[in-house]
Amino acid sequence: MARRRVTRRWEVFAGRNRFWCDGRLMTAPHPAVFLLTLALITGTCALHFAFDCPYLAARVSPALPAGGAALALLTLSALLRTALSDPGIIPRAAPGEAGAEGPGARPPPRAREVLVRGRPVKLKYCFTCKMFRPPRASHCSLCDNCVERFDHHCPWVGNCVGRRNYRHFYTFVVSLSFLAVWVFASAVAHLALLARAGAAGGAAGGAGLAGALRASPASALVAAVSFLSVWSVLGLAGFHTYLASTDQTTNEDIKGSFSLRRAGARAGAAGAGAGGNPYSRGNPCANCWHVLCGPLPPSLLDRRGVVPGEELPPQFVVTVCPAPAPAPAPAPPAAPPLTPAAANGALSSHRHAYMNHSLDLDLQELCVGAGAAGAGGAGAGGLSASRLRLLQDTTMIDAALDLDEPEPPPAAPAAPAAPARA
Ligand SMILES: [Zn+2]
Ligand SMILES: [Zn+2]
Repeated sequence: MARRRVTRRWEVFAGRNRFWCDGRLMTAPHPAVFLLTLALITGTCALHFAFDCPYLAARVSPALPAGGAALALLTLSALLRTALSDPGIIPRAAPGEAGAEGPGARPPPRAREVLVRGRPVKLKYCFTCKMFRPPRASHCSLCDNCVERFDHHCPWVGNCVGRRNYRHFYTFVVSLSFLAVWVFASAVAHLALLARAGAAGGAAGGAGLAGALRASPASALVAAVSFLSVWSVLGLAGFHTYLASTDQTTNEDIKGSFSLRRAGARAGAAGAGAGGNPYSRGNPCANCWHVLCGPLPPSLLDRRGVVPGEELPPQFVVTVCPAPAPAPAPAPPAAPPLTPAAANGALSSHRHAYMNHSLDLDLQELCVGAGAAGAGGAGAGGLSASRLRLLQDTTMIDAALDLDEPEPPPAAPAAPAAPARA
């Protein structure tokens, strides 16, 4: 009896992410730059451990290689966890819950507002995912998915950085800065000790720095690579420490979401340094704790769940069931069993409950309006050129950021008519 092959959710996934190990791991569509990051870090560390560490362990202390190894392990594990996990992708609406389509169907309104801790926050409709994005979510143009608490798409780690992997990304950036400083200092110390030994006539390469470089050229290479990379990594670590302490995302900071809101709003923002940021807990420690150590929501993707036969896209039906049974049973009229994915699919009908749960906030709908395009809001006009330049240099972020460009209307342009009152 032939074994029936099942189709898992990751195989019919609508976005552009790539899945590995039968759906257990996932990355962005093009992980080449991530592999370069991985090769740079492991290569530099390998040279450090092969050439600097034996000398330093013998002449200075065995604690030096041990400290370097601990930092390298922390950095690499944080990198892999950032790169290979679900950043917080919100599954697209299933056809049934995306709302009526076809002739006579009204296009959905483009934006609506909710109150978050008493402050109005605009929700935008995603025409690709066919749903209103929860607050702070954005659509990544490279991965083609909406991501919860979208920070940015980072090609260096080969993934979006969002709600579910931000803490790993932050750990990676901070530990990488310590690692770069550590490796640079070790290589310089190694060269300095060699130069001193050479001056005393006890080293193979000869006297002075030239002799030290001849004796251990790998140390010079390690020092150069770590010196060149340490500045951008330290800058990035400082920037994300600032973001975590104010509970902002890179996306929000670049767009100036809260500074514009603060300018537009009046007295309400009188207090906190975070201005009009409704997500801020009010003090940096509480923000860091919430962003980096708060509860981690489960993945909504159910990547390894089995797709029921009736939900299979046609191309899968052909390949998966090449020789159907002679007497196929008619599809049962009853509803299919509720899988976790189906429960996830119920997103739209429980949209507000989901967002409340997702953000751990008191959320309250303010109004629903058609049109709403333009209306001031936080647009790309709020960018600080110098900050954008810094981010582009360090994260290549411009290619991937969703700057809330107006999206094309589905079919005919929606007339900004006043909402009909029934
Ligand atoms: Zn989307
Ligand atoms: Zn992405």
